[in-house]
Amino acid sequence: MTQPPKDLTDHQLLRYSRHILLPQVDIAGQQRIVNSRVLVLGAGGLGSPILLYLAAAGVGEILIADGDSVDETNLQRQIVHRTGSVGEKKTASARANLAELNSDVVVTEIDSHLDEASMLGWARGCDVVVIGTDNFSSRYAANRACMALGIPLVSGAAIGLSGQVSVFDFRRDDSPCFSCLFPDGLDDEASCATAGVLGPVVGMIGSVQAVETLKLLAGFGEPLVGVLMTLDASDLSWQRFRFKRLPDCPVCQQR
Ligand SMILES: [Zn+2]
Repeated sequence: MTQPPKDLTDHQLLRYSRHILLPQVDIAGQQRIVNSRVLVLGAGGLGSPILLYLAAAGVGEILIADGDSVDETNLQRQIVHRTGSVGEKKTASARANLAELNSDVVVTEIDSHLDEASMLGWARGCDVVVIGTDNFSSRYAANRACMALGIPLVSGAAIGLSGQVSVFDFRRDDSPCFSCLFPDGLDDEASCATAGVLGPVVGMIGSVQAVETLKLLAGFGEPLVGVLMTLDASDLSWQRFRFKRLPDCPVCQQR
């Protein structure tokens, strides 16, 4: 039961006017954003700017999946949470702040770490899945779920002073998958919890993920498909690496 797309109200035309002024977005692009649904995996350092920018942009429905509670050590970088939210579920804390930012946005809390089967269920009907969790197993699961559903996955990671972003758009036959880039079976060597991370570095990577998500939703520009962008904040250098579908990728062979 698909609902017909909603027209923008006068208030929304004003609120999103700085998007609408962009010829790449215009009224039609903003309307697509307002009528979209996005699943965000992880309400942590990457998830914070992703959630805040997507809510500010007026994404119609945001599903937030995270099974953790807010810890005091999160607050140095996870800017969607507040000191008063320590001990609360991250999904509840993020939802409260997004509601304050933009009450137009419907926020659904998924208070658990999703496995592949539950990701498939929640991602169905979403326009984009964005992943900001800090482990490979979630990324492999999101990769397979998005491939099965034919929807784009915006992936990001950050640790220390470095980060990386890429987009896997399963609506396109030429798009590589996450496993073409990082063959299945990689383990997490380090996490922010053990190795540390500079707060704004996750902000930079999460913001790039938000940019890519809005491009996919509104339908403009060239997303980072087949491109891995890496950031080294120590000398503030960004690099682009091109990669293709692996002919023998075991995950892609199921496409
Ligand atoms: Zn692949």
